[in-house]
Amino acid sequence: MKLGDLQSVLAHLPDPLIHTDAKGRVLWHNPSAAEVFGNLGREANALALVDLPEVHSAFAEAIEEQGQTEVDIKWGGLKRRYLNIRFVCFRDDKAEEAGKPSRRQVLWSVHDMTAQRQLDKTRTDFVAAASHELRTPLASLMGFVETLQGPAKDDEVAREQFLGIMAEQARRMSRLIDDLLSLSKIEMEEGDSPSTVVRLEDVAYPVTDSLALAAKERGIRFVFEGDWKAPVVADKDQLGQVLSNLVENAIKYGHANSTITLKSRPHEEGSGLHSIAVCDQSPGIAPKHIHRLTERFYRVDKARSRQIGGTGLGLAIVKHILYRHGGRLVVTSEQDVGSVFEVLLPHPPSTDTKGA
Ligand code: ADP
Repeated sequence: MKLGDLQSVLAHLPDPLIHTDAKGRVLWHNPSAAEVFGNLGREANALALVDLPEVHSAFAEAIEEQGQTEVDIKWGGLKRRYLNIRFVCFRDDKAEEAGKPSRRQVLWSVHDMTAQRQLDKTRTDFVAAASHELRTPLASLMGFVETLQGPAKDDEVAREQFLGIMAEQARRMSRLIDDLLSLSKIEMEEGDSPSTVVRLEDVAYPVTDSLALAAKERGIRFVFEGDWKAPVVADKDQLGQVLSNLVENAIKYGHANSTITLKSRPHEEGSGLHSIAVCDQSPGIAPKHIHRLTERFYRVDKARSRQIGGTGLGLAIVKHILYRHGGRLVVTSEQDVGSVFEVLLPHPPSTDTKGA
């Protein structure tokens, strides 16, 4: 392959590449390099442009050792990037062939680590948040254990009361661990979309049956509207989990003695999607919160969610299940009227459900 051909291949690489002489003067670069470093015209000096001591020393070391070195840097102002630069030193063979003293040149191979860094940070933040969520009930449990071992040792009434609270805290930790495990399982399966066809009534009716007692305690009734015989492409258990989380929230956050309406209908024509909406009657959710509801541990009212036994993971689980299904969640809310959590899922290619 000729140098020109090689350069035109390299020009299309997504990672920035710069070819300089041993003083850092640019001999060639690909368009991605200009996108990251800006002005890199011929004769520009890359070392002067990326003027950081760690870059100078890694560059010098590559030349001295006639080998490879690498360095991680933060680059850019407003839009900061994390870059890994690998310096590969080689000799100019053409000069050598021509009988001239061989000169060293350096290839700068740059890898943008920003997305990876953000992912790492999201993971670290998540572990910190999960630990914090677990620590709160754990601290409460430990406090009660100490009180029961000490000051309240012989107090029968206090013991009964404290054991009740301790049991509730232990249940809270257990719910949280169950949700964390569900979430990681769903994330692991995310790349593999379900292909089974399920009829909506076979999923929705068992969900409302299992939550009937919780609804009754708050004087809430369920109303079904639309076509519940409709088929969708879904994993039956996971769709059950989605509907269960949404209906449970509607019971928790809806007004007492209100109605939860579940609606099933085809979504916009040509979308290939079916809509399943859970509509509650409640104070509603302020617009500034809506786009954040599916974030892990995001709650509009932290104290209230904890008090009614929420883990803050229910809607994150819903979002990830729907990703896996090629569907999505749309939330709308009207102050003092209520909220609608609408699930959009793909229709089967044909509406024949015999294979379900
Ligand atoms: P939680 O376990 O706290 O209910 P979710 O992930 O299920 O966690 O929901 C996140 C937050 O979204 C809740 O804490 C609550 O503030 C809000 N939310 C969810 N569903 C509703 C609803 N139907 N009405 C009002 N707010 C809701």
